[in-house]
Amino acid sequence: MCGEFIFIVFLWRKMGIVLEVCNLVKKYNGNVAVDKISFDIEDGEIFSLLGPNGAGKTTTISILSTLLTPTEGSATIFGYSLTKQPMEVKKLIGVVPQEIALYDDLSALENLNFWGEMYGLTGKALKTRVSEVLEQIGLTDRAKDRVKTYSGGMKRRVNIGVGLLHKPRLLFMDEPTVGIDPQSRRAILDSVKALNTAGMTILYTTHYMEEAQELSDRVGIIDHGKLIALGTQAELTAQVGEMDTLILHVGENEDPEHLAQGLRTVQGVFQANPSDHEVALVTPSAEEVLAPVVSRANELGIKIHSVDIREPNLEAVFLHLTGRALRD
Ligand code: ATP
Repeated sequence: MCGEFIFIVFLWRKMGIVLEVCNLVKKYNGNVAVDKISFDIEDGEIFSLLGPNGAGKTTTISILSTLLTPTEGSATIFGYSLTKQPMEVKKLIGVVPQEIALYDDLSALENLNFWGEMYGLTGKALKTRVSEVLEQIGLTDRAKDRVKTYSGGMKRRVNIGVGLLHKPRLLFMDEPTVGIDPQSRRAILDSVKALNTAGMTILYTTHYMEEAQELSDRVGIIDHGKLIALGTQAELTAQVGEMDTLILHVGENEDPEHLAQGLRTVQGVFQANPSDHEVALVTPSAEEVLAPVVSRANELGIKIHSVDIREPNLEAVFLHLTGRALRD
C-alpha cells in the first residue's frame, strides 16, 4: 500500500487506517537517523515504537508531528499529507514530547490555560476543557500549585495534559515515563490505557520492553533507524520460535564479557550477550543448558548469583534480531 497516496486518501476512512508512513528517511548532516521506515496505525490502536536510545524514535515522532521535515518519504494522517497539509494534520494530532515544555513558575492550571489559548481556546470553552484535562491527568487537587513544586511524574502528567487540550484524535507520546518513579510510571501507563479506552489512537515510543508489552496492540521494533520487526506481540515472539532467554546475574567484580565468551561454545547456547552484571543466553531449552552453563562458569572461576528464565518476550525478539539486549 505504501506509495499509493491517492488511493489511501480516498479509502482511509473505510479501511480504518489513521496514519500511514511510507519509506521515511531523515538524515542529519548526511548521517541517517531514520532509514526508510514504513508502517501504519489503525483507528483505536496503541502502536508502540520500541527501540534503544538513539534508535530514531524521537526523530520519527518529530517528523510525524510536523516539527521536522523528512529528507525522503511521505506520511498521511487521517488522509492528509504531512508535508502538503500540515495545518490539517496539526488539528488532528496531539504531541507529548520527551522534553517537558512547561513554565515552572506557573501552576498546572496556568500552564494549561496558556497552551489552551495557543490552541485557540478562549472563555468558557477553555475553562471547561482545562478542568476536564486536569481531571484526566489526576491533578485537579494540585492545579493551583506552581509546577516547580511538582514531582517529575506530576510534571510529566501536565505535559500529557497539554497534548490533550485540543482533543486530538491521534496522540504521539515520546517516552513519557523516562526518569520518573515507579508509582508515577504506573499512573501514566494507566492514563494511556484510559485514553485509549475512551477512543484515542496512540503512537507510543519507549525503550522499556515491559511498557510496549503491557500497552500495545502492535509493536514496531526500531534499531539504528530501521524498523526491523512489526506485528502483534504474538506475531513477534513467534519469530523467536521456541527459544528461551536465560539471564545469568553475576557479581559486580565479575566480567560478563568473559563469561559470555566462555558460554558461547556450550551446546544448546545459541547466543550469549553480556551487559551490566549479567549475561543473556538464547537457547531452545533453558532447563537443559542450565547445568552445563553453571559448570562452565565454575571452570572460568565466575560465580553466578542468580538465574532468571524468561519465556519469549519482546526483549528476546530484540536479542534474537540484533544480538544485543534492548538496554545496551
Ligand atoms: P533517545 O531515546 O536517546 O532520544 P531515539 O530513539 O529517540 O533515542 P533519536 O533521538 O531520534 O533516537 O536519534 C536518532 C539518531 O539521530 C541518533 O544517532 C542521534 O544522535 C541522531 N540525532 C538526533 N537528533 C539530531 C540532531 N538534531 N542533529 C544530529 N543528529 C541527531
